[in-house]
Amino acid sequence: MTITADVIVIGGGMAGVSAAAELSSEARVVLLEMESSVGYHASGRTAAIFIRNYGNETLRALNSIAEDFFLNPEGVSESSLLSPRGQLMFAHEAELDKLNTYLEGAEGMETLTAREAGDLVPILKTDLIVKAAYEKNARDIDVDRMLQGYLKLLKSRKGSVFTDKKVIEITFKDGVWNVHAGTEHYQAKVIVNAAGAWVDDLAKLANVATVGANPLRRSAAILPKPEVSGFEEWPLFVSASESFYAKPEAGTLMVSPADEDPVEPHDAWVDDMALAEGLHRFEQATTIEVNRLEHSWAGLRTFVEDRTPVVGFAPDAEGFFWLAGQGGYGIQTAPALSKIATELILNREPLLDNTILNALKPDRFGE
Ligand SMILES: Cc1cc2nc3c(=O)[nH]c(=O)nc-3n(C[C@H](O)[C@H](O)[C@H](O)COP(=O)(O)OP(=O)(O)OC[C@H]3O[C@@H](n4cnc5c(N)ncnc54)[C@H](O)[C@@H]3O)c2cc1C
Repeated sequence: MTITADVIVIGGGMAGVSAAAELSSEARVVLLEMESSVGYHASGRTAAIFIRNYGNETLRALNSIAEDFFLNPEGVSESSLLSPRGQLMFAHEAELDKLNTYLEGAEGMETLTAREAGDLVPILKTDLIVKAAYEKNARDIDVDRMLQGYLKLLKSRKGSVFTDKKVIEITFKDGVWNVHAGTEHYQAKVIVNAAGAWVDDLAKLANVATVGANPLRRSAAILPKPEVSGFEEWPLFVSASESFYAKPEAGTLMVSPADEDPVEPHDAWVDDMALAEGLHRFEQATTIEVNRLEHSWAGLRTFVEDRTPVVGFAPDAEGFFWLAGQGGYGIQTAPALSKIATELILNREPLLDNTILNALKPDRFGE
């Protein structure tokens, strides 16, 4: 059987689902996901945080656009997808430059002394801290409500979602893409490559130049609830060199070694050594001794070289659209990137100025 649409989105993570939902306001959209449910890979394995100042200048601009949507997620949810958390970044002597660099161009951050940092997170060894900074407006994201809300929006607009459909063949003939997934064939003039860690594999299938997407593994562990009163109110706390970060998570403490090991695209699992080393760094910076883990997991954060997402039509293939390289920011930037993708695909008036659109363009990798 052949199913036709205006746009085929490949990948049912936050990127693909949000873009498919936005596109379906005007286009007939089919979304293909190889797993049995959406959000199985990176999008289901996050720290669920929105940090306004996270990432380079382009990302900070995207975060800012996305923030309005998170607070008023019209069509996706009836109330804000964010809830208070805060982010505390602290520097030991050797990390001072890193903290100062982070603060350049940052908005809404206040500088704190070591004592003030300790008031926020009492388990920190404050005698090691030389400077800290606090972003009060960093907030938790309700990732599941967000993903399900976009999915519901897509379906209400007559978009079709097919799971258990791994794309295995992509060809282009007479201005139309033919996509073979499972036992079915799908056709559309535009395909969106939102395959997360697999974006370059997908490009190769379609005979399109790759963008150098690198999946980097990041692990996380859940520790038992610390016996410290008020712990649920702690902000996310992170060392300025990102040697680890931690945050309260549904009555437990999530700690990530902030590892970035290059791997092939796969169903990621924790590297025990990376986790043990990260937990050791956490122990050195805090008064907590880690004796037991409740649970651990890993996910892939996929970056291109300049650590900026890749959004736009491929320069070498008509109708092949990249929505890739969201790295560690793919949830918090999804509302902005899905709108940008929709504007470009449907040829609408752009929301952003050219500087940002150019920074996202796939042709920046050309010779
Ligand atoms: C530990 C960790 C913490 C993180 N914390 C945050 C955070 O707090 N805030 C934030 O904004 N971001 C965070 N991120 C980053 C965020 O998770 C990613 O940027 C985002 O999920 C990427 O979304 P995606 O849709 O591109 O990828 P994915 O969610 O991986 O989706 C890609 C989908 O494509 C499908 N696919 C691949 N190949 C095919 C094929 N051939 N056929 C059909 N389907 C295919 C896959 O099955 C997958 O479901 C974190 C990531 C990790 C690992």
